[in-house]
Amino acid sequence: MKINIKGAGVGGSLLANLLIDEGLNVTLIDIKESYYKPCGDVVPTSYNPPYKWNILNEVIHFKFIVNNSTINEVSYRRPKWVVIDKKGWIDWLRNRFIRRGGNCVVSQNYWIGQEGNFTVFANGPYNMDRKVVYATRAIIEGESVEGAVLEFNTKLTGFYWIFPDTDNSVNVGAGFLEFPNSRDLLLKYISTKIKRGKIIDIRGAPISISKPKKVEFSIGEAAGLVFPLSGEGIRPAAISAEEYFKYIKLKRTLPESIYAIGSKEINSLLRKINIQRKLLEFYLRLNEERRFTFLRTLLNNEVLIDSYLGDETDYRGILESIKAIKTLSYDRNREI
Ligand SMILES: Cc1cc2nc3c(=O)[nH]c(=O)nc-3n(C[C@H](O)[C@H](O)[C@H](O)COP(=O)(O)OP(=O)(O)OC[C@H]3O[C@@H](n4cnc5c(N)ncnc54)[C@H](O)[C@@H]3O)c2cc1C
Repeated sequence: MKINIKGAGVGGSLLANLLIDEGLNVTLIDIKESYYKPCGDVVPTSYNPPYKWNILNEVIHFKFIVNNSTINEVSYRRPKWVVIDKKGWIDWLRNRFIRRGGNCVVSQNYWIGQEGNFTVFANGPYNMDRKVVYATRAIIEGESVEGAVLEFNTKLTGFYWIFPDTDNSVNVGAGFLEFPNSRDLLLKYISTKIKRGKIIDIRGAPISISKPKKVEFSIGEAAGLVFPLSGEGIRPAAISAEEYFKYIKLKRTLPESIYAIGSKEINSLLRKINIQRKLLEFYLRLNEERRFTFLRTLLNNEVLIDSYLGDETDYRGILESIKAIKTLSYDRNREI
């Protein structure tokens, strides 16, 4: 059995290493020599990958801003998120894979690697057969931030962020459904919010917010596995690679779809992503005033914040979300 993996990002590089450690014949194909895609680089602490990543920072403090007003600030006793050296980890995984005898190919040709029967698609959002948000992030050296800042504007769907990066840099980003040119928005945001430092890198990429048309033989973002409200896709890509691997190890064939694997981990992930998809649809239907009420409810509720930041409280999260939505509908009826 010879397996080709298209895309050496989070999911592809992780899956390639798991498979090569199992003694399988694997080829990993990417359009870039080393990982290039920009990211916020934060991951919830509830996930630990099978191959360790370097942690640059820990986030215990969160500040939520809506329409220029601080809605809530929360601090946890233990870190809720970690900032990882994502690029360093992926490049290390690619090199580890090669050292173990894996075949790594750099090619722009979309059809390379699709000639055999066993091709896994791990090429992120780039099939573009789904709804996406174009997000841009800048690394600013010489600035620091205490914890994470998430800033919403009810005119738009998405948010600005300021995350710690290294101790001497911050990761500032923007992604809004209505604005493909998130770079301009980000530059304006930086000029008003960031007082010190210098932009050393600025780059953008799409983030999937709906299920793609084609999900067969795909993992990670290629299969649409991203939390659409938070844009969190590292953990879903890694979990889907692990679960895809377990299936191959057991059955010695590729599962046709990650959506049909049926493991506890995948079902839980899909359920949580679905909740966020529903909440996003709901949010899109609201007018500005109700968006403000919705965000204020969400960001002032401990359980909902936990769900949003990626904890394991999905059932409680659903119940609380429904309650919040019902309260909103009730308010709306009363206003009418
Ligand atoms: C600006 C921004 C900020 C983000 N911030 C966060 C964050 O803080 N936390 C978080 O969890 N998620 C974040 N995300 C989402 C996260 O980056 C992705 O969801 C995650 O990297 C998906 O992993 P993946 O392995 O599925 O795909 P990717 O990491 O996207 O990897 C796909 C790989 O496929 C390669 N490729 C593309 N086309 C081809 C082709 N035709 N042939 C071969 N290879 C190809 C690419 O070069 C890339 O290496 C962010 C995304 C963006 C754009």
